[in-house]
Amino acid sequence: MELSYILNELGEERENYFNAVSPPIIQTSNFTFKTVADFRQALGNEHDAMLYSRGHNPTINILRKKLAALDGAEDALVFSSGIAAISVPILSLLKQGDHAVVVENPYSWTIKLFNNFLPKFGISATFVDGAEVENIENAIQPNTKLIYLESPNTFSYELQDLQAVALIAKSKGILTMIDNSYCGPLYQQPISLGVDLVAQSATKYLGGHSDVVAGVLTGSNEIIAQIFNNEFMNIGPSLSPHSAWLLIRGLRTLPLRMQRSFETAKTITAWLQQHPAVDQVLWPFSPGFKRAELAQKQMKGCGSMFSFTLKDSSIQKIETFCDKLQHILMAVSWGGHESLVIPSIAGIAKEDYDAGNSRHQLIRMYAGLEDADYLIRDLEQALA
Ligand SMILES: *Cc1c(COP(=O)(O)O)cnc(C)c1O
Repeated sequence: MELSYILNELGEERENYFNAVSPPIIQTSNFTFKTVADFRQALGNEHDAMLYSRGHNPTINILRKKLAALDGAEDALVFSSGIAAISVPILSLLKQGDHAVVVENPYSWTIKLFNNFLPKFGISATFVDGAEVENIENAIQPNTKLIYLESPNTFSYELQDLQAVALIAKSKGILTMIDNSYCGPLYQQPISLGVDLVAQSATKYLGGHSDVVAGVLTGSNEIIAQIFNNEFMNIGPSLSPHSAWLLIRGLRTLPLRMQRSFETAKTITAWLQQHPAVDQVLWPFSPGFKRAELAQKQMKGCGSMFSFTLKDSSIQKIETFCDKLQHILMAVSWGGHESLVIPSIAGIAKEDYDAGNSRHQLIRMYAGLEDADYLIRDLEQALA
C-alpha cells in the first residue's frame, strides 16, 4: 500500500460524515441498537461490533487501520500510553512459570515491568546484551516464551540483528516483540524482518507535537484478537477519541517531520564530532558508529535522537552546559517539534556519579523541527 494513500485516505469513509476532509471525533462511550437481535449479536461479538468505546470507536478505528498498514501488519491496537502498548500484550502472551529473554537497557519502565511487576505473577526474565545473537540464543530456557527487543534503544542506541533473532525465535516457537519507537514505521519495518509484535510510543514521532500520550501495537490478526478479547478489554487501556484524532492529524505530516529531523540530526552530529569540547557522539547513522553496518542494513533512515559526551566529563561541566542552553529545552520524552536534551546525570544522585562510566556521562539530544543552524548556535554558546 502506498504511503500517501495510507496517510491521506485509508480508513476514511468521508461520505459517512458530510464529506468532511478531517474525520469527526466521535466522542461517545456507547452505541445504540434498534432491535434486540442486533443488540444480541453485538454483545456476543465485541471484537467486531461497535458497542462500547473501551473496545471500538470509529475515530480510533481509522487510526488503527493506518497504523497497521504503516507497519505492514494485519491489525493494530492503540493504547492510552506507549508503556500500556508494551505491558498489556506481555501480560497476555506470558503466564505463570514463563520466561522472557530481554535486551539490556530498554526503556526505563520496561525494565521495571520485567524486574518488579511480572515477577509478582511468577514470570521471570533474563537481560542480555543483544549485540550478539548468540547471547540471546544462549539465554533461551525450556520455558522461554518471548524474546523482547528494542533496537535501537533511546540512550545508547544498541542494536539487535532483527532478522537473525526472529529466525532463531521462529525455529524454537518463541514469540518476538520489539519496541520500535526510535525509528518508527517509516525507518524500520520489523514485521518484514520476521518480528511478531511491534510496539511504539505514539507519544513520540507519531503524535509529533508533544500534546498527546498514546501507544500502538501491531501484529497478526490472531495475536491482536487474542489480546483485544482478553487483556485489552479487561485492563481497559483504551485511547480517547480526541487523542486518536490528534494522532491521525500527526500522521499526515509524519514523512515530512521524519525527513526534516533526520537531516538535522545528521548535520548536528557531524558538527558535534568536530567540536574540540566534545568527546564521543553516538548516533546509529554516524559513519563511525560501532554497528553502522547493521544500522544501514535494517534501518531505512534514522531517528533524530543521539547522545554525546564532553571531553571534560565532570558533573559541573555537564550541568553548566545543559543549564546554559537557551532554545534547546530540558525535558523527558522526544518526537515533538521542539528540540530537547536530557543529561544522564539528571537521573543519578550526585554522590553516585561515576566519571569513568560512559553511560553516566551521556547527554541525550533530540533534534526537533527547528533550523539546524539555530540549534547549532545554541549548542555553540553553551559549549563555550
Ligand atoms: C516514551 C517511550 C516509551 C513509553 O511511551 P509512553 O507513551 O511514554 O508511555 C516506550 N519506549 C520508548 C523507547 C520510549 O521512548
